[in-house]
Amino acid sequence: MRCSECKEEAIIKIPYAHKYLCKEHFIQWFENRVEKTVRKYNMLEGTRKLAIAVSGGKDSTTLLHVMTKIAEKEGIEIIGITIDLGIDMGKRYSVKSVEYAIKNYEMLGVKYRIVKLKEEYGFTIDEAKVKIRRPVCSTCGLTKRYILEKVAKEEGADTLATGHNLNDIAQYVLTGYYNGDILSLARLRPVSPAENGYIKKIKPLFLSPEKEIMTYALVKGIPFIYDSCPHTFRVGGETQDNIRRSIEEMEDKIPGFMISLVTNFEEKFRPLMEDIPKGSLGKCKICGMPTNKDREICSFCAIRMKLTEVKVNS
Ligand code: SF4
Ligand code: ZN
Ligand code: ZN
Repeated sequence: MRCSECKEEAIIKIPYAHKYLCKEHFIQWFENRVEKTVRKYNMLEGTRKLAIAVSGGKDSTTLLHVMTKIAEKEGIEIIGITIDLGIDMGKRYSVKSVEYAIKNYEMLGVKYRIVKLKEEYGFTIDEAKVKIRRPVCSTCGLTKRYILEKVAKEEGADTLATGHNLNDIAQYVLTGYYNGDILSLARLRPVSPAENGYIKKIKPLFLSPEKEIMTYALVKGIPFIYDSCPHTFRVGGETQDNIRRSIEEMEDKIPGFMISLVTNFEEKFRPLMEDIPKGSLGKCKICGMPTNKDREICSFCAIRMKLTEVKVNS
């Protein structure tokens, strides 16, 4: 097939846009779409320093490359944050992930900070899996959210970007409906404003399908970790996987299905949820980070105390 723009050989078909694109036109098209999304949803409004969460996978490394370009144009400073979660399971997963993140930071000349969970907080995700009854991905997700929030603030960033892609968000929307979990749906936003002591968070790739991100990373020669995390169990397990697979099958049958699902949710339904009480927040007695009002200690400090078996005082 030939490129719809220049008649070079096409490397990708974009069914929902009725386009075939060559390497150069795809790169341009992908970057433009992310930039338009960032502008349409005012993601960088008021941002002076942007923290980018980089795990070393295709989504976050692509996010780093694209956002570095956009931030440069806007005169916004960037800091990359990577967490060494201590996931090994005989595969050196975290060691390799961190190495890939660093390769990208150095390639782009971006400042970064690596947080070593074991050294700074006294435990690893592998240890949490064995010692805590909670599903490992739930502990890991909570740990990542806590550390990213804390470190972004320490680094003086006013906005934190994460690499959630369109497939992730479509899955969250449908799972929210399936479970009737209106609170999760109300919290699901491409831009979460700074409030209740939390930093502003943005998801610049929320309208970018996983396939396009993978293609972009490959054609741009972005180094990223191919291996998946050895802890395969997810919160919601098989049901979540089946929902994701069904959404992707629907996308094949109805091109643009995921984009419609997510943009209609964001623009037509979520505004109706603005009045849902979000629950009041207090401060964790140990670390001072925001926590549920009826809890004295935040969930992260509670987990850390269980795992390290020492009183946490900072
Ligand atoms: Fe963490 Fe689970 Fe993701 Fe592995 S799969 S990185 S344990 S959230
Ligand atoms: Zn072309
Ligand atoms: Zn705490």
